[in-house]
Amino acid sequence: MIILDGRATARALEKNLKVKVEELKDKYNKVPKLIVVLVGNNPASLSYVKSKEKACKRVGIDGFTIRLDEDIIEKDLLKVVDELNDDSSVDGFIIQLPLPNHINADKVLNRVKADKDVDGMGLLNAGKLMNRQKGLLPATPKGVMMLLDYYNIPLKGKHAVVVGRSNIVGSPMAKLLINADATVTLTHRYTNDLGYYTKQADILVVATGIVNLITADMVKKGAVVVEVGINRVGDKLVGDVDFENLKEIAGYLTPVPGGVGPMTISALIHNVIEAFLLVRQRN
Ligand code: ADP
Repeated sequence: MIILDGRATARALEKNLKVKVEELKDKYNKVPKLIVVLVGNNPASLSYVKSKEKACKRVGIDGFTIRLDEDIIEKDLLKVVDELNDDSSVDGFIIQLPLPNHINADKVLNRVKADKDVDGMGLLNAGKLMNRQKGLLPATPKGVMMLLDYYNIPLKGKHAVVVGRSNIVGSPMAKLLINADATVTLTHRYTNDLGYYTKQADILVVATGIVNLITADMVKKGAVVVEVGINRVGDKLVGDVDFENLKEIAGYLTPVPGGVGPMTISALIHNVIEAFLLVRQRN
């Protein structure tokens, strides 16, 4: 079994990014700038935001967090989005999810200008993915594709099974795999006999947030298993797949932590650089 080491892959890719950022700085006299908007004090969100800031620093781009009160009303959050849309020094920004329940997350995400939507969560970028047009891709599924690519895992003609159909992971993941010429089965909470499908997977991507949903008997020998779920159990982080028992079965396996997490951040940084260039190369 080969570990799909997201941390090492992200660090290797960062080396290239660092060189690229230097080139951009020389050519445009500016480095790309990312803003993360964080509403409230969700501890998991706080730790993700810190990791994003650190990654920006490592590759030499600007990365700052705007922290807003948990009680902020939707109108005021939309005003912050509008200001960031209009601020020409900002190349990309993201609204860290989850947002508090009193805010309509779709409305806020759709307000982000498509050129700066480096989480690919607005309608225009989601639509572009759907119609196979080039746009900014959601960071987690993009990070998974980058990881599979780095390990030269073939996708064409393979059967990929995605577990979970969220807008942020499962649905765009399935579409990216289709676009990479895999045959894709998308499963979710109403799928009867989940194991029937997962057992057929050459590539299995799991994003449900349910600890140990995928046990060893649900996986084909030699399958590529990509774990997106990160769940806190006590003071430990565990995924949705039974990692220990899958070690014997899977051909490739991502660890938690150190698998998809660092790749998500890497994909975000790639998107910021892409957004920076998108606008400049169009003008
Ligand atoms: P994420 O953002 O990580 O994708 P969400 O909580 O938004 O997580 O979505 C969880 C997804 O997991 C949903 O699409 C849901 O249908 C799926 N899911 C939940 N329970 C099961 C289950 N027992 N079997 C398969 N999929 C499930």
